[in-house]
Amino acid sequence: MRAAGVGLVDCHCHLSAPDFDRDLDDVLEKAKKANVVALVAVAEHSGEFEKIMQLSERYNGFVLPCLGVHPVQGLPPEDQRSVTLKKQKLVKQLPLTSICLETDSPALGPEKQVRNEPWNISISAEYIAQVKGISVEEVIEVTTQNALKLFPKLRHLLQK
Ligand SMILES: [Zn+2]
Repeated sequence: MRAAGVGLVDCHCHLSAPDFDRDLDDVLEKAKKANVVALVAVAEHSGEFEKIMQLSERYNGFVLPCLGVHPVQGLPPEDQRSVTLKKQKLVKQLPLTSICLETDSPALGPEKQVRNEPWNISISAEYIAQVKGISVEEVIEVTTQNALKLFPKLRHLLQK
């Protein structure tokens, strides 16, 4: 299933969230096994910046810090079904060249009440491939190229 030299990039995950304090090593190991080659760690508020910088040093070459702040939390009160349909329509309409993959972990997991983790990014890649009727390899390759355009600093993480 693995395309040579190409892997997935999680463009948005909250590795500094307390949810990951206990087992971040395991979480990142699992992500690596799921063909994730780089993660962009984001902050929800500026108080997390220092922790994110520490993480990017500790996992140098795997975790890229992104010190912006999070957009406003929460979806408008729509029912879940209409959100799902809209998402599917959006994935169909958007060209692959403008899609980046992100988990937003530990929030927004595929299963409610279960902590989301970066390795779930492979589920997103499979979902997009299915909706668009293309191969997972193509999704991985193009979305990773997109991530590189967005975060040029990723380039030296991927050239290993
Ligand atoms: Zn987020």
